[in-house]
Amino acid sequence: MIIPTCFKGQKVVILGLGRSGSSVAQSLLNAGAHVLVWDDQETAREAAQEAKFPLMNPNSLEWEEIDHLILSPGIPHHYPAPHPLVARAQIEGLRPVSDLEVLYKSQPQARYMGITGTNGKSTTTTLISHILKENEAQVEVGGNLGIPVMQLNPLKEDGIYVLEVSSYQLETSPSLHFNVSVLLNITPDHLDRHGGMDGYIAAKRLIYRNTTSQDTLVISVDDLPCLTIYEALKASGRLQLLPISTCKVLSDGIYVKEGILYEKSKPILNLKNFERLKGQHNWQNAAAAYGALRSMGLGSEAIAKGIASFPGLAHRQQVVDRYKNVVFVNDSKATNADAVAKALACYQGSPVYWILGGRPKEGGITSLKSYFSTIEHAFLYGEAASSFFLTLDRNVPHTLCETLEEATEKAAKIAFNDQKKDAVVLLSPACASFDQFRDFEVRGEAFCQYVQKAIAFEQKKA
Ligand code: ADP
Repeated sequence: MIIPTCFKGQKVVILGLGRSGSSVAQSLLNAGAHVLVWDDQETAREAAQEAKFPLMNPNSLEWEEIDHLILSPGIPHHYPAPHPLVARAQIEGLRPVSDLEVLYKSQPQARYMGITGTNGKSTTTTLISHILKENEAQVEVGGNLGIPVMQLNPLKEDGIYVLEVSSYQLETSPSLHFNVSVLLNITPDHLDRHGGMDGYIAAKRLIYRNTTSQDTLVISVDDLPCLTIYEALKASGRLQLLPISTCKVLSDGIYVKEGILYEKSKPILNLKNFERLKGQHNWQNAAAAYGALRSMGLGSEAIAKGIASFPGLAHRQQVVDRYKNVVFVNDSKATNADAVAKALACYQGSPVYWILGGRPKEGGITSLKSYFSTIEHAFLYGEAASSFFLTLDRNVPHTLCETLEEATEKAAKIAFNDQKKDAVVLLSPACASFDQFRDFEVRGEAFCQYVQKAIAFEQKKA
């Protein structure tokens, strides 16, 4: 656990008592800070009292006496409207900060690598930390994935914090200085929390806000927002840039052509050999990881070896099981249309039994229209079912379901009955999970169980 002694004696309000809020409260209390906590949910406040965290009284707090406000990423501080307590604190000039800011302030001696983008953050972060660990580096990995950052271990000068950083965390971590930062891609997502696309792009640009000419930004040049940022930074010359691409040849960067990863036009390794990094989107993640680690001084052979032994991540095109003609794939993390497009692109040419639904996001699945003709059968469930049904072409065979369990059962049954070669039952929901599950992980785990049930049923029939 990190004990942020630089906060000793300071008055800190913590708003939002999820895993990261509770963890930062405990760390700050251990460090001797004066902590007050709050959560709008009564159950969370009860848990806080049990943990002996001092509860604040939101109606009588003397905000002018507070030194820091620490905010959970789920609580809005800007759009669509700041949480009332944040708005109150802002009147006193208090800017809400994240637990990453607390980590950075208490561990400034270590090195930091930050990974952001709309999609691929967790895969790239995990891949980078896997390769570093394989090479016996002192690494702690966290941020927007895994355990809360205050539960990581302290590191010395030679240690590296590899952090996945969301746009909200970037907005609330003003001091964070990344020695190497990675910007993977920018496509529309979370627009309600950023007041539109311009606000979202502005938040992503914060990944390099504290960088100097000694630092490197590894940046994709494959989408327009990233390319625009790259060109502007190149003209300014204020930091070192390493462009990456999976669709252009880059004489001065890292690129992937037909699955081969090249560094400055020298072929390094064939990514097509790795089932766990399937698809062009994963080649982008591999190129970014490769570039980030080269910037840290790691040799190309060591990185290639680490990529080859990467075990992959659950809930991202995870092969759950295979039985008879069918492979079952859990892509529960695909909560937006762009992520789903990547999964569907991987299975072109195979009969896909696509399970989708949950709580829909802005834009729905309209952008996936070009894939509709490749779908064997769609299974729609949850809150999004009726609106997605209207977007699907009439000629896409589809079944409306209430729950994911029903959708999985029906998808498996039809896929087995059709007996088509190389069939894929793919959960790639294009939605948030919150209508029926706590989060995408619980949804993915439930899917894995339903798959086992469906296979057991088919086995019994045989
Ligand atoms: P994040 O942490 O940014 O949400 P993940 O690595 O967890 O990203 O992947 C989430 C989903 O996005 C996966 O389902 C995968 O299909 C898709 N994905 C992964 N990498 C990329 C990428 N580079 N570009 C677009 N989509 C991607």
